[in-house]
Amino acid sequence: MLNNQGRPTSAGEATGSAHPTFTGNRALMVEEALLFEIGRADTTGVDVVKAKPVKSRLGGQERKKPIGLVGLSEPEAVRHFVRLSQKNYGIDTGLFPLGSCTMKHNPRLNEKMARLPGFGDIHPLQPQSTVQGALELIEELARYLMVLTGTEAVAMSPKAGAHGELAGMMAIKAAIEAKGEGATRRVVLVPESAHGTNPATAALIGFEVKPVPARADGTVHVRDVKKLLGPDVAAIMLTNPNTCGIFEPQVVEIARAMKKAGAYFYCDGANFNAIVGKAKPGDLGIDAMHINLHKTFSTPHGGGGPGAGPVVLSKRLAAFAPVPFIRRKGKKLELVEHAADAGAKQKPFGRVTAFHGQMGMYVRALSYMLSHGADGMKQASEDAVLNANYIRAGLQDLMSLPFPKHPSMHEALFDDAWLKDTGVTTLDFAKAMIDEGYHPMTMYFPLVVHGAMLIEPTESESRASLDLFIMALRDLAMRAKRGETERFSGAPYHAPRRRLDETRAARNPILRWVPPQPIQQAAE
Ligand SMILES: *Cc1c(COP(=O)(O)O)cnc(C)c1O
Repeated sequence: MLNNQGRPTSAGEATGSAHPTFTGNRALMVEEALLFEIGRADTTGVDVVKAKPVKSRLGGQERKKPIGLVGLSEPEAVRHFVRLSQKNYGIDTGLFPLGSCTMKHNPRLNEKMARLPGFGDIHPLQPQSTVQGALELIEELARYLMVLTGTEAVAMSPKAGAHGELAGMMAIKAAIEAKGEGATRRVVLVPESAHGTNPATAALIGFEVKPVPARADGTVHVRDVKKLLGPDVAAIMLTNPNTCGIFEPQVVEIARAMKKAGAYFYCDGANFNAIVGKAKPGDLGIDAMHINLHKTFSTPHGGGGPGAGPVVLSKRLAAFAPVPFIRRKGKKLELVEHAADAGAKQKPFGRVTAFHGQMGMYVRALSYMLSHGADGMKQASEDAVLNANYIRAGLQDLMSLPFPKHPSMHEALFDDAWLKDTGVTTLDFAKAMIDEGYHPMTMYFPLVVHGAMLIEPTESESRASLDLFIMALRDLAMRAKRGETERFSGAPYHAPRRRLDETRAARNPILRWVPPQPIQQAAE
């Protein structure tokens, strides 16, 4: 590989390979330097005619020196990006067992639909008369989401699960303020097992977060909720199925208790993939729930995007839905953009995004729903749950389950009790999975489980692929128990990079490339 000074280093340094190669490449796995290291600042890939001088309108702000971007030939640029893309691991390369994320296969049909010019090439500022079909699609998807969740309204515009949480909690806040209780209802209850976005959302809009203690069986008990309920409580944020992969057995009782106390029930719907077509959250008594279209309804995600998090609302909250929303006017659909135009019954709390949301993801979601049909969506949920329990059954004699009493829903949760005295940690085990060609499962989440390993295979894995995954993990588990610690402590051995300091990379990222000193100077 080339180091920061642009000089080759021994490949063994970075990869720990026993047979370092001159180039640092290992067979067809090519070590890729930064663009700045492979390009040269004094060359460009294009040949343009020198521009005629023009009168500057930049008021003296124009750049005095060349920008210093590197130039590359087209083949150099293409190779750079293709090689980087080949280092990626995604759902299209293999089983991606991240729990809580629902990394399922996204049918290509939906991609094709999203690229239809009538959906893919439109602009949010186009006259509404020219995008009636797109509005119709958003309206139809909204209707499906309400039917699947058993709710009265849906705000389509939020652009991620966390953003949907924010919109839902702002609707709750608006409803509380409309009742004149804004000054008193300041507390939001959040179970200890919750995803970090839940307390963050509540805190961001000024609520005080009170944790609901975790029961030893991984569920939330209505008695613990009631103990915290009072006139100061605005809402609970509960995930169902929860982050331990368990369907909350007392969800209905909790919903009733919240209603009785004059508070609201926000449900984190990230795990909706486990219950689509089986249970309607509205029937369970929720007031608001975001749906991660990118987890449940077919959009490739990971690596930071894209996302869409429509939030469904109960009758109690429907009036407070944010703008924009779609309204039928005769034969036409119109987009209501301003609270003033919303009508007497609506009291929108405001707006959470500039435009109407993620059109491409709406198309994918509706295409997924229509191609599956009601029976297909129900089967997808059932298969997701079946696959998770298949993995659980295949590993539970070797690895330990923190909550053996409850059946798993769409994800199987193991702890690290089985690794006690082996010298191997959850992190080591995950790194060894990389050597076996698997992306690691979700680790150390939920926080209430020591050394958590949260595995979600999703419905789209075949039995053969689950069997191979189980055998690979069984082999690793037996090696850990036999004391082959070295197999783990140095893993991954075969990845392009070995163990990285992930904490430092996250806390202190180096985002700027500094040109190396000329070699002569550096030597002095
Ligand atoms: C993914 C997830 C979220 C956040 O959703 P984003 O779309 O990533 O913002 C919230 N809660 C749970 C349980 C999740 O799994």
